[in-house]
Amino acid sequence: MSHRADFPLLARNPVLHYLDSAATSQKPAVVLDAMREFYETSNANPHRGAYELSVAATDRYDGARSTIARFLGIGDPECLVFTRGTTESINLVASSWGRPNVFPDDEIVVTALEHHANFVPWQQLAIERSAKLRICETTEDGRLDLDCLRSLLTRRTKILAFNHVSNALGTINPVRDIVSMARELSDAVIVCDGAQSAPHFRVRYDDLGVDFYAFSGHKMCGPMGIGGLVGRRSLFDAMVPYQTGGDMIEFVHDDTTTWNVLPNKFEAGTPNAAGAVGLAAAAQYLDGIGMDEVLRHERELVSSADARLREIEGVRIYGPPPAERSGVVSFTLGDVHPHDLATILDGDGVCIRAGNHCAQPLMRRLDVSATARASYYVYNDSSDTDALVEGVLKAREVFGHAAV
Ligand code: PMP
Repeated sequence: MSHRADFPLLARNPVLHYLDSAATSQKPAVVLDAMREFYETSNANPHRGAYELSVAATDRYDGARSTIARFLGIGDPECLVFTRGTTESINLVASSWGRPNVFPDDEIVVTALEHHANFVPWQQLAIERSAKLRICETTEDGRLDLDCLRSLLTRRTKILAFNHVSNALGTINPVRDIVSMARELSDAVIVCDGAQSAPHFRVRYDDLGVDFYAFSGHKMCGPMGIGGLVGRRSLFDAMVPYQTGGDMIEFVHDDTTTWNVLPNKFEAGTPNAAGAVGLAAAAQYLDGIGMDEVLRHERELVSSADARLREIEGVRIYGPPPAERSGVVSFTLGDVHPHDLATILDGDGVCIRAGNHCAQPLMRRLDVSATARASYYVYNDSSDTDALVEGVLKAREVFGHAAV
């Protein structure tokens, strides 16, 4: 069942077909209301004042952390650090764990399926520390080549970074298999980019076996500017802070400083408390639908869109079959540039992404400069696919020979 009526922007634009949720999701009224209510009833700087209102703000902020921890299966909420999102979370690990622990000739393993946010920080760390960046290749149908991964993991591997779900193709990666392979063959710290998994199916961090898991609130019905990094306490405790300043200190002496406990040690400055409250409301909203239902709903829509697009001459779909993908259909139409295709679709109110999806290493391997990407979420239904298919058929007529 579509939940479109819960989303004010969509309710206000009945002819809009929003198929770009992998970039950012729309926000339900409950999230917008929660943020407004925070500012109207509990706004003060958390952790600072000794007065009642500040205590209320602190309670709301800490409560949001507990709610989100429950949603993601994190047993110890103090091991959830709020950040701006996945990009900042991964940069935090690369900087605070990577810099002091990666040495010349060490190896960092990433994959060709990564978003730049989980590729460039490791590439730059490797350059800075004179370490080697190893890249796990993909198979032709857009899965990780696990034989390749096996051949790359060694006792020299300091970090293994991979995504749970690819934003460009929707591929769901077998985290448990990857983790057990990495534990057997290396002593690597394992970093999982969860930007595209937390929004789309049930994630239990404590069961994944990874050391760090990063996610973004804005892709899971929450506001922009809030997300998180979950990690093992022992690793966090041994790490240097990412940023320094207020709230993250214990004692500041003239010549040295000691650090606050988790999670404050990694949350310097005034936190995005309203964002955390909004994200907690988003987690509760998704829980209300049920994450198994979210996955089932998207699978149904993606399977149908996949089958209908495949029937159109000239369409090529990238990635594994729909049953092994999250809510994404990534495709091209003959030699039509995906930007031109997106422009035609936009004329009929269909919003899709066109470009390299911040995954240039993957695009090079697929031998394309860009793809068109339709991505689904809880507010979509079959009318969105009808409009998508009609738009692609229209583009075929407009572009004639180039489209086949
Ligand atoms: N990783 C993946 C797989 C993503 O899809 C995205 C967002 N497109 C990111 C990382 C970066 O997330 P953010 O921009 O929210 O930091």
